[in-house]
Amino acid sequence: MDLLEYQGKQFFATYGIPVSDGEATSDVEEAVAIADRVGYPVVVKAQVHTGGRGKAGGVKLAENADEAREHASNILGLDIKGHIVNIIWVEHASDIAEEYYASFTLDRSAKKHLGMLSAEGGVEIETVAEENPDAIAKIHINPVDGLSEAQCRAWVEAANLNPQATEGAIDILMKLYTAYVEGDADLCEINPLILKPTGEVHALDAKVSLDSNAIYEHPEYAQYDATQPRDDRETAAHEKGLQYVGLDGSVGVIANGAGLAMSTLDVVNQVGGSPANFLDIGGGANADVMAGALEVINDDQNVKAIFINIFGGITRGEEVANGIIEAMSRVKLDSPIVIRLDGTNAEEGRAILKPHLSDRLMMEDTMLSAAAKAVELAGK
Ligand code: GDP
Ligand code: MN
Repeated sequence: MDLLEYQGKQFFATYGIPVSDGEATSDVEEAVAIADRVGYPVVVKAQVHTGGRGKAGGVKLAENADEAREHASNILGLDIKGHIVNIIWVEHASDIAEEYYASFTLDRSAKKHLGMLSAEGGVEIETVAEENPDAIAKIHINPVDGLSEAQCRAWVEAANLNPQATEGAIDILMKLYTAYVEGDADLCEINPLILKPTGEVHALDAKVSLDSNAIYEHPEYAQYDATQPRDDRETAAHEKGLQYVGLDGSVGVIANGAGLAMSTLDVVNQVGGSPANFLDIGGGANADVMAGALEVINDDQNVKAIFINIFGGITRGEEVANGIIEAMSRVKLDSPIVIRLDGTNAEEGRAILKPHLSDRLMMEDTMLSAAAKAVELAGK
C-alpha cells in the first residue's frame, strides 16, 4: 500500500522525524488559507502516487497568497505521468544547503534490511546507482539485531555527508528505521533529506510503502484506503470473487491455482509476451467462475489473446471443458483463446473441447507451446 507524500510525512511525524508544517487540500482557496497559516514562502506540492513531480511542474514555491493561489489552481487537475492531481499539500518552504537521499527497504536475497544513504540526493536514486554507484553508502541490518547507533554512525560517516549533518542524520535514520520496522513498511524513503543552512536535518519528501499483509496489526491504516489508486479491472474482478491482479500486457491469463497462475505469467514472459493480468480461478472451474473471469479479461482493452492454463487436480478435466464451452456461449469475446488442459481427466476434457476448436478457440499440448501461441496471436 503506497502512501501519498503527505500521508508519509504524517507517518514520519508520529515517529518524531522532522517534517515541515503543512496541510493537504483539494481546494484552491483552502490552499491559500493553509499557506497564510504556515507562513510564506510555501511549497505547493501535487499528491500523486508517482515520483518526479518536481520535473513535471507539480512542486512550486510561492512567496505570497497570489502565487500560492496561482500554483494551487495550476497543479490541481494536472496530469503527472497519467496521474491526475486531486490533492495538493501546502507546507512552509525550507532553505536548503544540501540534498541527501536516505531509505530502508528489504533486501530479499540477503534476508536483511537494506539502508541506503547518499550525499547525492534530490535526483532519482536509480540514476545515482547507474552513474555513480560508489556515492551510495549501503548497510545491511539483521532484523534480529536491529540497528545500533554505532552502526548507524559508521554508515553516516561512510556516506560523506557534510559533517554538520552527522548528528541530525543519525537521529533521523534511527527514527526512520523504527518507523520502517514498527510500521511494517516495505519501503521508507526520504529524497531529499536536507541539511538546512542552520545545520538542522529535515525530511523534505516522503515515500512510504506499507506491507498490506500487516494491516490487521494497524487499524489506523484504514485511513489510507480512500486515496489508494483503484484499478477498475481489479474492482470488477474482486466483486466477482476472483483473485485478480491487473498488469499492463496484452495476454489475458486464466489459471487454476495461484502457483500455476504465477508460473503462467513467467512462461508468457519467457516466450516474449507480456501478461495483462494474474487471475486465479481457484479449484472449481465451473461455467459461472469461468464466465466471470472471461468477462473481466474481455473488458480489458489491452488484451489481444487469452491463455487459459488448467491443470486438473480435484477439479476434473471434463468439468473444466464444459465450463469453458458454456462460458464462451455466454460471453461475446473480442480475443481468441488458447487452452492448455492437463491433469485429472485431461483426455476427457480435450475430447469435449475438440468439436469446438476454431481460430477463436485453440488447444495446445503443453504450457510452453500454448503460451507461445497466445503471444503470437497477441502480437498480430
Ligand atoms: P519529487 O520531484 O516528486 O521527488 O518531489 P520532491 O518533494 O522531492 O521535490 C522536488 C524538489 O523540489 C526537491 O528536490 C527540492 O529541490 C525542491 N523543493 C521541495 N520542497 C522545497 C522547499 O521547501 N524549499 C526549496 N527551496 N525547495 C524545495
Ligand atoms: Mn523527492
